[in-house]
Amino acid sequence: MSRVLMIGAGGVATVAAFKIAQNTDVFSEFMIASRRKEKCDKLVESIHKAGLNMDIKTAQVDADDVEQLKTLFNSFKPELVINLALPYQDLTIMDACLACGCNYLDTANYEPKDEAHFEYSWQWAYKDKFEKAGLTAILGCGFDPGVSGIYTAYAAKHHFDEIQYLDIVDCNAGNHHKAFATNFNPEINIREITQKGLYYKDGEWIETDPLAVHKDLTYPNIGPRDSYLMHHEELESLVKNYPTIKQARFWMTFGQQYLNYLDVIQNIGMSRIDEVEYEAPLADGSGKTTRVKIVPLQFLKAVLPNPQELGENYEGETSIGCRIRGIKDGKEHTYYVYNNCKHHEAYKETGMQGVSYTTGVPAMIGAMMFIKGIWKKAGVWNVEDFDPDPFMEQLNKQGLPWHEEFDGDLEL
Ligand code: NDP
Repeated sequence: MSRVLMIGAGGVATVAAFKIAQNTDVFSEFMIASRRKEKCDKLVESIHKAGLNMDIKTAQVDADDVEQLKTLFNSFKPELVINLALPYQDLTIMDACLACGCNYLDTANYEPKDEAHFEYSWQWAYKDKFEKAGLTAILGCGFDPGVSGIYTAYAAKHHFDEIQYLDIVDCNAGNHHKAFATNFNPEINIREITQKGLYYKDGEWIETDPLAVHKDLTYPNIGPRDSYLMHHEELESLVKNYPTIKQARFWMTFGQQYLNYLDVIQNIGMSRIDEVEYEAPLADGSGKTTRVKIVPLQFLKAVLPNPQELGENYEGETSIGCRIRGIKDGKEHTYYVYNNCKHHEAYKETGMQGVSYTTGVPAMIGAMMFIKGIWKKAGVWNVEDFDPDPFMEQLNKQGLPWHEEFDGDLEL
């Protein structure tokens, strides 16, 4: 018997919930809790409509509030809490897990609301506490971070004595037919891509201007796409865990139209994350106004297309993988491991597009690894700290099959 609580009812959580309901031999008791209970109930309804009959409980919780979380955890008593809310809630959920003796898994590192800053230090600082409590925390178990780290661990285990050059390449060659939309939470996404670029070379971190470095990379079944060097959180743990790495970079594709819109959003101040004063009408209908504080990026999120509603007309596919160069038996080798995921296939199965799918499936597999006792050790861990083999096996079974190319031209 296993008892799992998932927090969040957005795009990624929807996919993870479908996948949990498809694996009732592993998951027996399941609750979904989010800021709005009705969203959890709607999600359960869609799972049942798809013919999956799992009995799923739902609850309302504000995950910014540790006391509310503790009350919920103490009543449902989950073995594992899957955090698929937003990165802002990572620490409050980890605190509540420690207080109530629950294990923890997430897909994105903690970010303070008032500072777009990506690093694991805040969550790694919980290592001793989780160790002492005998609890497991698994960090960053989506696709990137997540499968990108598992691919690297698999390459290190089976194909290299020394990994020297690592390039994580993330291509979305889909078309959702909207002028501008983000593929996951717009606030989190725009904060991420407007950051300065950062990569690792010869023991140092090198900063670049946002999206300043780019080149064409060729993706399987897709072709060449302009790919931009960005900072991405898994680079921090991977260079620490694989000290032979001389260079580690992350690349993501963007179309020109997307970049033009992003440029305008930034230039008119709509990507700001500080508060601005705004004259808002009173809710009493009197026509009078009052000065309120709003965060422009949060306002923008409210008017942009909801990523959860992009799926229906989404064509094309994603291709995400690791391109690795290193040494095996004294010789230099290259290795490329990747998954391609079709948006429409993801939509047919879960009602969500491929970006939510490629994140929600690994979150479920990570939970499965924990419940089966395969990925269980006291402390706070990144995914590459665990055995990649059983996870890789499940990727093939759960809808994200992977492919390998040996000794080809990595273009990098
Ligand atoms: P969504 O915005 O669609 O979903 C977030 C969910 O969390 C919503 O249901 C939201 O409620 C709920 N929520 C937000 N704040 C609170 C709170 N204070 N208390 C309780 N519930 C709350 O985001 P996505 O599904 O797109 O993304 C989910 C996570 O996955 C994010 O952390 C994102 O960074 C991460 N991610 C990771 C990737 C990877 O590959 N590793 C890739 C893509 C995303 P409401 O519905 O009411 O707004």
